[in-house]
Amino acid sequence: MSDPSPKNEPDGGSEDHDGRDGRDGHVAGFVALLGVPNVGKSTLLNRLMGSKLAIVTPKPQTTRDRILGVLTGPLGQIVLLDTPGVHEPDRSLNTYMVRQALATLADADVAVLVVDATTRGRRNHEVEEDLARRAEERGVALIVCLNKVDAVADKEQLLPLMERWSGARAVVPISALHGDGVDQLTDEIWPCLPEGPAYFDGDDLTDRSLRWLAAETIREQVFLRTRQEVPYATAVRVERYLERADRGDVVIEALIYVERDSQKGIVVGKGGSRIKEIGMAAREALSESLGCPVHVKLRVIVMPDWSRSAAGMRRVGYEP
Ligand code: GDP
Ligand code: MG
Repeated sequence: MSDPSPKNEPDGGSEDHDGRDGRDGHVAGFVALLGVPNVGKSTLLNRLMGSKLAIVTPKPQTTRDRILGVLTGPLGQIVLLDTPGVHEPDRSLNTYMVRQALATLADADVAVLVVDATTRGRRNHEVEEDLARRAEERGVALIVCLNKVDAVADKEQLLPLMERWSGARAVVPISALHGDGVDQLTDEIWPCLPEGPAYFDGDDLTDRSLRWLAAETIREQVFLRTRQEVPYATAVRVERYLERADRGDVVIEALIYVERDSQKGIVVGKGGSRIKEIGMAAREALSESLGCPVHVKLRVIVMPDWSRSAAGMRRVGYEP
């Protein structure tokens, strides 16, 4: 790398304070978070965003429909993009992931490939290599995060991984869980972004984006609490999102769609126990994100085979 990294401190008095690679304008760009399941992408995202959920907004019908979050800092704006679809079970993971990731890459300025640095993470090397290659083919700057370094006792074990990914623009060991290395990661991202104005106003939370956040949060809880095919047969649609200014709270009414009666039984649980847990966990998470009390009301609806047709997908709220 020939460019010096900018220092991510507004008044820190660093030498390249206003010289940033000779650029003195505001930068803004899209950063795709890539990686196979369980490497820690969501944990990293939460860590990057902190508690400040600046914006989450869907843009249906574009490959940017999974904007996960926007980080606005003194240097500019990082728009984090999800690589959707990794929850899809029944297609070959490789093909599916790659296809989804490609759609996101088309929009990205930077690809952050998260890999699991523990021995567990060695299995998916081929998928990861493939993702990295595609990013490079598209001229997208590749940054590799070696995650979970807190769980690697002997740091020498990281050396082969550093070596393996030495073709990347940067390799950053991190612990998304504890936060180590995450500032170094953003330090590597800033110089890869093009100059330009911010894409989003950080304060401009739209009702639409919050509905989407609510639906995703509920869906996540279904995911965490059900098994086998159930998570994949689930979609969540927020019917009502009501901000009650007088009470300072938010009321969310959502439908959880499944494809079969048996799945409904599982999601509802014995005596309604599971749906209650899902609602409570979603309420807690959303209260934290939104910074106010949240009430969550859920209903489970069977919509046979919704995931198998475009019409079905539209009915549960997706734009296929
Ligand atoms: P994703 O599927 O890539 O989004 O992965 P998640 O963020 O859901 O994380 C998968 C699992 O790895 C969870 O149990 C996390 O707690 C764990 N995990 C994520 N980051 C770290 C880390 O830095 N260190 C450790 N030890 N575990 C982590
Ligand atoms: Mg995740």
